[in-house]
Amino acid sequence: MRPMRKLRPVATVNESLKRYNVAADSFCNSFYHCNVPEMIIDLPSDEAFMREALRQAQKAYEVDEVPVGAIVVRAGKIIGRAYNQIELLKDATAHAEMLALTQAEASVGDWRLTDCDLYVTKEPCVMCAGALVHVRVRRVVFGCADLQSGGGGGIMNLLQHPALNHHCDISSGVLQNECAAILQDFFRKKRGRTGDTAASAGEDRH
Ligand SMILES: [Zn+2]
Repeated sequence: MRPMRKLRPVATVNESLKRYNVAADSFCNSFYHCNVPEMIIDLPSDEAFMREALRQAQKAYEVDEVPVGAIVVRAGKIIGRAYNQIELLKDATAHAEMLALTQAEASVGDWRLTDCDLYVTKEPCVMCAGALVHVRVRRVVFGCADLQSGGGGGIMNLLQHPALNHHCDISSGVLQNECAAILQDFFRKKRGRTGDTAASAGEDRH
């Protein structure tokens, strides 16, 4: 009889972060294409969760919304997932983060998300950063930075503002090249269709 293989323990957030430094590309890309609607992920790595956020961003891309995706994770399980739906809902507040937070609140049955982490492909804007503080998210993980409208250090750090009563931990740069590439590709195509001026005007309104 073959000896039973030792199970890999579920990593803590800190262990996960350490692993990010040494094994950033070690995850199978097939995760990105998985269609299981409510999967529980055994390896709670930042890369794996960001790939799910990227999958949401891809959905936005396919329906001509600015491709930003977000998920909320609690105890290793995804309890909220969304992509930008501003055009679909005709609602400027329908950012991926806001929609994912609303789902997570419904899942938890409370507005407090103190034991939840949010993953988003682009640095949250100031509206979303404010919402993340309001619901007391534990950690915000984002892919690419947004130096024009970011509320996680881009134009200001609302997530850790000293005057506010809650501060979120921040991890940035997770899969940042992929997160930035889908946005760049989207706006490149938009420029091709509508001309530079119109596309540029809407570039960072997601
Ligand atoms: Zn936002």
